Amino acid sequence: MKIIMLGAPGAGKGTQAKRIADKWQIPHISTGDIFRANIKEGTELGKEAKKYMDQGALVPDELTVKLLLDRVAKDDCKNGYVLDGFPRTIPQAEVLDKALAELGDTVDFAVNVDVPDENIINRMSGRRACVSCGATYHITYAPTKTEGICDRCGKELILREDDKPETVQKRLEVYHKQTQPLIDYYAKKEILKTVDGTKDMEEVFQDIVAILGA
Ligand code: AMP
Repeated sequence: MKIIMLGAPGAGKGTQAKRIADKWQIPHISTGDIFRANIKEGTELGKEAKKYMDQGALVPDELTVKLLLDRVAKDDCKNGYVLDGFPRTIPQAEVLDKALAELGDTVDFAVNVDVPDENIINRMSGRRACVSCGATYHITYAPTKTEGICDRCGKELILREDDKPETVQKRLEVYHKQTQPLIDYYAKKEILKTVDGTKDMEEVFQDIVAILGA
């Protein structure tokens, strides 16, 4: 099964994507995570991507598309995958569709986790990420056992540069302009499924499970 997660930054699509990946035993592919791993390793791609990410802008398609196509061509993607943060523009979606069509394949579902902007700003300011392993938490909705310390690896938690309020505002603008058109794009293909992302995480997941047909 090939699933695309749609939704504003901070809508909770990453959390849901991980749970889908666990339940269906398919890889969770987050372009944001791949860029952050590259930044941490100090690669050329990481250096280039960081310039855009820190400003809340999208990394150019030339850097993003190849990375994603290489990733989904790997062996572990044979039974499908859940994409989290890709596509983010219509051209990205078209490239993915074309690559799949060449294999006689298509995306099965585009799951839109719908959350109004007001809720997003509030949620993002509470997000915390581990400086070392990249695990993400929320001071209210997904707290760590010890405040400020990563449950997984014991290192310090920070508010990511791109989760700061001024950057979030910019990311929301970018989302509405460049990513939201994908909702129509997948609706026209009749694979769009929208869930109410303001519900609690477990309920949202159950709604998704009902849609994907477990
Ligand atoms: P995320 O973790 O998905 O919120 O992504 C964090 C940042 O990485 C975004 O704000 C963009 O700067 C960049 N990014 C992630 N995925 C993409 C993509 N598909 N296209 C362009 N930029 C992306």
